[in-house]
Amino acid sequence: VISTDSVNPYRVVLLGAGGVGKTAFACIFSGAADSMDSDDCELCGEELREKEIHVDGEAATITLLDTWDNDGECAQECYMQSGDAFLLLYSITDRSSFLRASELRITLRRLRPAQHTPIILVGNKCDLVRRRQVSTNEGRTCAAIFDCKFIETSAAMQHNVWEAFHGIVRQLRLRRDSK
Ligand code: GDP
Repeated sequence: VISTDSVNPYRVVLLGAGGVGKTAFACIFSGAADSMDSDDCELCGEELREKEIHVDGEAATITLLDTWDNDGECAQECYMQSGDAFLLLYSITDRSSFLRASELRITLRRLRPAQHTPIILVGNKCDLVRRRQVSTNEGRTCAAIFDCKFIETSAAMQHNVWEAFHGIVRQLRLRRDSK
């Protein structure tokens, strides 16, 4: 028997610099990646997707929000205030995106001070081993400092992407159950 988590969907927000793989994540989430012609994915132009996923035998509805780094601070802050949980992406091939993730984490902390907001730091593009600029250890250490979980993924290989979504649902449930 599958029970449902909540009446209202969880709002999960994708944050990160441009080019780190947010759209690719959204495509995989929406199922469009399977039929995707690499970058040409119409579905992915939408900023909001809702889907029921099953995690540990329990259904959870997620509304996924994709943000654009160049939308300006205002739009990003709006997402930060309205989201229930965050996937904070950087590319392991791009150190500046790693620094950007730190900035976004600090902004999140400022905007959501009191709560235990579920956040996972996601090092994407781990398939590009030869172009790596950020080591796994650095990512893990950064996540520990930021008090959040850490995972390395490859949207291109569809590696660990669902694990990231499942991880965020587990964190949301932990928070729900501790209330
Ligand atoms: P966004 O700006 O954060 O939405 O980034 P996109 O999802 O548009 O990705 C930017 C580019 O990186 C695109 O060409 C993607 O195909 C590519 N990309 C995204 N994720 C991966 C990955 O895990 N591995 C590799 N090799 N390329 C990726």
